[in-house]
Amino acid sequence: MANIQPFLLIIPILALLTQFLKNPNTPALIAKHFPQLCTNPHSAELLQRIKLSKLCTMPEEHKQLMIPGPVEVHEDVLSAAGGLSMSHVDPVFVNQFGEALELLRKVLVTETGQPFIVSASGTLGWDMVAVNLVEPGEDILVLNTGFFGDRFAESLEVYGGRTTHVRAPVGSRPTMAAIQAALNEKPYKMVTITHVDTSTGVLMPVEAISKMVKAKNPKTIVVVDGVCSIGGETLLFDAWNVDVAMTASQKALGAPPGLSIMMVSQYAMSVFNERKAPIPSYYGSWRKWLPVMKAYEARTPAYFATPAVQLIQALHVSLKQILTQTPDIMDRFAKHEAVSDHVKRVVASWGLRMVPAIEEAAHTMTGVYLPEGMALPQLLPKVSAKGVVLAGGLHPDIAPKYFRIGHMGLSVMEDHRGHIDNVLKVVKEALGEAGYTFPQDAL
Ligand SMILES: *Cc1c(COP(=O)(O)O)cnc(C)c1O
Repeated sequence: MANIQPFLLIIPILALLTQFLKNPNTPALIAKHFPQLCTNPHSAELLQRIKLSKLCTMPEEHKQLMIPGPVEVHEDVLSAAGGLSMSHVDPVFVNQFGEALELLRKVLVTETGQPFIVSASGTLGWDMVAVNLVEPGEDILVLNTGFFGDRFAESLEVYGGRTTHVRAPVGSRPTMAAIQAALNEKPYKMVTITHVDTSTGVLMPVEAISKMVKAKNPKTIVVVDGVCSIGGETLLFDAWNVDVAMTASQKALGAPPGLSIMMVSQYAMSVFNERKAPIPSYYGSWRKWLPVMKAYEARTPAYFATPAVQLIQALHVSLKQILTQTPDIMDRFAKHEAVSDHVKRVVASWGLRMVPAIEEAAHTMTGVYLPEGMALPQLLPKVSAKGVVLAGGLHPDIAPKYFRIGHMGLSVMEDHRGHIDNVLKVVKEALGEAGYTFPQDAL
């Protein structure tokens, strides 16, 4: 230490300062502790002159977002999302896009799946399945565990699919016997499964269902709506014989909203290629998007419609982070299970009932019934005042009676941030303030 030149200390200090300036929470900290810095015209002008006026653009303190998507996003992912303009055919971007497509295969555990990344929310995935794989009048079996099953079916019907639903009471899943009985009724072009229905937090046993569907008829296409699962819940695309799995950037993949993400098996691509009916969509047509995805993966640019450059860069950073953090993706799924088990154990110790039974519950979120006599407006604003945002109910049959905690991505994977402990602490305090009496042994 003695023979280090003191001026060399400037390097770590500059590095720390850069980290501080880059951190998205910095503006909130500045607004809180040095409000005059942004309101005084002289200092504001100075900040502008030294190109740091960005520090004053986020006056609101950030609230920890613990809903089932969008989720908290890592600072490096956010930086990428706010990056400088770059051409969509710039070799740097071409390489990032190409690599993102390859990394998606790793996260979904597939060798041969065809990935698609298209600007839109996750909902475009339903439309893409409907317009590319379903011909008018074809029969589709919808395994419906809530709001998102209804919505998927609605999209399929818009394009002429004929849906049959297998439903279950709210908060539970159809039995395997009920699914088998439905499969025995008639041949289906496609079976759709909502891996995690975000309205209730019910988890479907995709592996067992896929096996059953393919045993009945190997030609039936197995489609998984994995928007609230992919990147958090175990899903082995190849090993489970899944034909289409879709998600969105803002859920367990940990990027901002704006990208519709899909994986399609070679079998499903062959069904698409043999399609007779015209594709009833322009933007959603795989005829347009497939050459673009293939080109970028081969590290050459192609154009159909301008990709969301910064969002794809953000996704690319997030996917790289995921696979650096857990080179064996199974470790990421195991961590989501462990954290979910912890959340559910704590909530159960409070004496509260959860929407799905524990054996049927997802690991990316938890749906919790309010205590008898308590209403959402008594709880959620208190939670929010303590700096945490939760989601209210979504399933129309029970919406006012429960709330939802999302636990996926960074909040689950990075213990040092304390997100999970904080959400549990805050909800417990808020329940207490709303008049709830906890059992003696509440955690
Ligand atoms: C969020 C979600 C969707 C819809 O995704 P958007 O990005 O909101 O369009 C579809 N299915 C499930 C299971 C979801 O959780």
